[in-house]
Amino acid sequence: MHTNDSSLPLVVIVGKPNVGKSALFNRIIRSRKAIVAEEPGVTRDVNYETVFHEGVKYRIADSAGFTKARGNLTRLTRELNVKLIKEATIIIFVSDIGDLGEEDFDLVEVVRKSGKPRILVINKCDNEKIQESYYDFFRLGLEDPLPISAIHGRNINLLRERIAESVRSFGDKEIAQKPSVNQKVLNVAIVGKPNVGKSSLLNLLVQKNRALVTPEPGTTRDSVDEIMNFKGVTLRFIDTAGLRKKRKIRENVEFYSLVRTERAIKQSTVSILVIDSTQGITTQDKKIASIIDREKKGFVIAANKWDLAELENVPENDFIKDVYYDFPHVLYADIVTISALTGYNKTKLLKIILKVYNNYYKKIGTSNLNSLIHSLQGGAKDIKYGFQKSVAPHRFEFFVRNTEGKGENFKKYLINSIRESYDLRGVPIEVLLRKR
Ligand code: GDP
Repeated sequence: MHTNDSSLPLVVIVGKPNVGKSALFNRIIRSRKAIVAEEPGVTRDVNYETVFHEGVKYRIADSAGFTKARGNLTRLTRELNVKLIKEATIIIFVSDIGDLGEEDFDLVEVVRKSGKPRILVINKCDNEKIQESYYDFFRLGLEDPLPISAIHGRNINLLRERIAESVRSFGDKEIAQKPSVNQKVLNVAIVGKPNVGKSSLLNLLVQKNRALVTPEPGTTRDSVDEIMNFKGVTLRFIDTAGLRKKRKIRENVEFYSLVRTERAIKQSTVSILVIDSTQGITTQDKKIASIIDREKKGFVIAANKWDLAELENVPENDFIKDVYYDFPHVLYADIVTISALTGYNKTKLLKIILKVYNNYYKKIGTSNLNSLIHSLQGGAKDIKYGFQKSVAPHRFEFFVRNTEGKGENFKKYLINSIRESYDLRGVPIEVLLRKR
């Protein structure tokens, strides 16, 4: 059966001649014969089929019919590939484990430039031995190459799942692009020990005087989540009820507030640790900082009551240096001196929160990452390839020749280089090393 339902997402199979595109096409549509009824009078060089899988429906196309073409097969295949890439919603790029060459690099460039979602498959992975060259395919610069065997059916289900997942998230994106009342919402937790000015900061940011602040700890009245808009992003300050002091359970206040703090951090994307500039960073602050770090959240430090520190002529740079010196653990987080009382640096703080939010979701391209690795290593080839395994939080995976002698310091070096090169301030980065 072939379909003309062009409203469906189109998955195209591309690749140079002889990599096994039609075998793969047949596998995916679960048919042994790639024979498509020719419509009279219509010359067809592309096979189309409709696939249902895991609740999603899509059209799939390949250039199978073309292999019978006469003339310059490579050129004709390339032209057809380019045409298919233009039509595609999602691209499956097929390569051959035994034959990685210039034509692949040439075509992968077209795929990459299209900016469309794509899946790299390495076909003809029929036995273990052949897989030794698997890592060479990272050089193509596409994420997570999937070894398959179209003939033996290896990993075909996994590929079907990946396609379904891709089609699904394409659908989600379409929905997300439609104008909607649901704007982007960033969950922010304002945390810190008692009396550093969390409630005052919240009031300053939301510019309302909802929560009453008095010099006496224990007297801020109830409030719910507060929201504000800044540069098109809705910031939701979570668990602002946690900012009130619990008179009834005063005896247990520290334990109670730490539990609340932890919960607020867990619910946040970005956590702001409020510290008191007149005290520097204290043991209690460090405890909370460690939770933010452990939970791998976006991290900003707001050094409040700067108006008081200023009275004592503390130079801002020295103050920030001292905090980092006292607690190098937070070196990756920006410290903004603020005054919830005077409003000093309010906008700067908001801008940094948004920057951390963007950093949290920043995607680093595989080829970009690999040029960084290349430049870090000079001539050495200790690290073969790497890719970004996830965002929010960031995880990078590197394939190294040898993991021996590559301990925490080596990882830290990689993390710092990545942070600097891609300006990933304020977000946690995890690095995994795998021996290849
Ligand atoms: P919370 O317990 O962290 O919510 O702290 P509060 O917001 O209740 O503030 C505790 C005290 O510090 C109150 O007396 C505030 O007026 C005062 N305070 C808060 N922020 C500032 C600031 O930037 N400068 C000065 N001088 N006092 C502040």
